[in-house]
Amino acid sequence: MRIVVLAGGIGGARFLRGLKAAAPDADITVIGNTGDDIHLFGLKVCPDLDTVMYTLGGGINEEQGWGRADETFRVKEELAAYGVGPEWFGLGDRDFATHIVRTQMLGAGYPLSAVTEALCARWKPGVRLLPMSDDRVETHVAIDEDGERKAIHFQEYWVRMRASVPAHAVVPVGAEQAKPAPGVLEAIAGADVVLFPPSNPVVSIGTILAVPGIRAAIADAGVPVIGLSPIVGDAPVRGMADKVLAAVGVESTAAAVAKYYGGAERRPSKGGGGRRKGSPGLLDGWLVDSVDADAVAEVEAAGIRCRAVPLMMTDLDATAAMVRAALALAEEVRA
Ligand code: GDP
Ligand code: CA
Repeated sequence: MRIVVLAGGIGGARFLRGLKAAAPDADITVIGNTGDDIHLFGLKVCPDLDTVMYTLGGGINEEQGWGRADETFRVKEELAAYGVGPEWFGLGDRDFATHIVRTQMLGAGYPLSAVTEALCARWKPGVRLLPMSDDRVETHVAIDEDGERKAIHFQEYWVRMRASVPAHAVVPVGAEQAKPAPGVLEAIAGADVVLFPPSNPVVSIGTILAVPGIRAAIADAGVPVIGLSPIVGDAPVRGMADKVLAAVGVESTAAAVAKYYGGAERRPSKGGGGRRKGSPGLLDGWLVDSVDADAVAEVEAAGIRCRAVPLMMTDLDATAAMVRAALALAEEVRA
């Protein structure tokens, strides 16, 4: 089975670990968010790609969910001694090596997709990891600071400010001009199922869908598209997704997020989908947590098949069970 997954960082990576366990023979392509990418100390940092790569490759800091295990921070300390920041972004010594290799290869003219493949040759994540685009896309957030509206990099909003002030807009700068990376549209067209893990719907999956061609390719693939809610009991399981959902006018509920992705139109079997205009809805199926069982009727009323199952990725078994529920829903949709 060929499975395509759109993934952010921690939520996506943990889900993928469960997917590999639940479907060991599947051919998995991950389309990773690069809207969180940032240049720091002259280096190109791709937090979400690295979180997926380290998590699946066995190098992740498990407690934190991002960064390397067994990490030290000498370089950061030395930079601080020179007064060179930012200090709010934690780059460890081992992690620095990844960014140095990446930046060196980009400087030599390799596209990000080729660089990611080269980095994965070491980590062997067991999936094909593709950046959503080789073109630069950077998510910016509009906030009010000192009585003034301004746009800041997503990482500054998320990491430095801990999303402590309202976000008025979230803009994936550069997305409109970006092209899907080589292999992205082909993987979607050749998929048997497309999964949206419980990643951030706005700044992770929403950013991937903002790259022209990706949303339409998913809508036209003619295969089940199944998502899992990152919102449980009306709050994000982890992090501040409610802040960026509010910026796009979406309530922090499992049902509202499903409607934000939109229900897929009924369409003929694989390959038969026609071109459509506008911004097509995508979901055939949606999983909410058992505590949100009340939301099932609302989601189904929007034309999306919905089931309530445990959605907490507490360990590999629990995560694999979530994946099996998603794949079972895909088969139900297909039937
Ligand atoms: P990021 O790029 O590191 O922020 O990670 P993602 O965008 O991939 O995922 C972030 C989302 O994962 C957050 O909105 C969390 O609510 C969600 N999340 C984290 N752990 C869990 C979990 O155990 N269950 C569910 N359902 N969602 C989770
Ligand atoms: Ca991210």
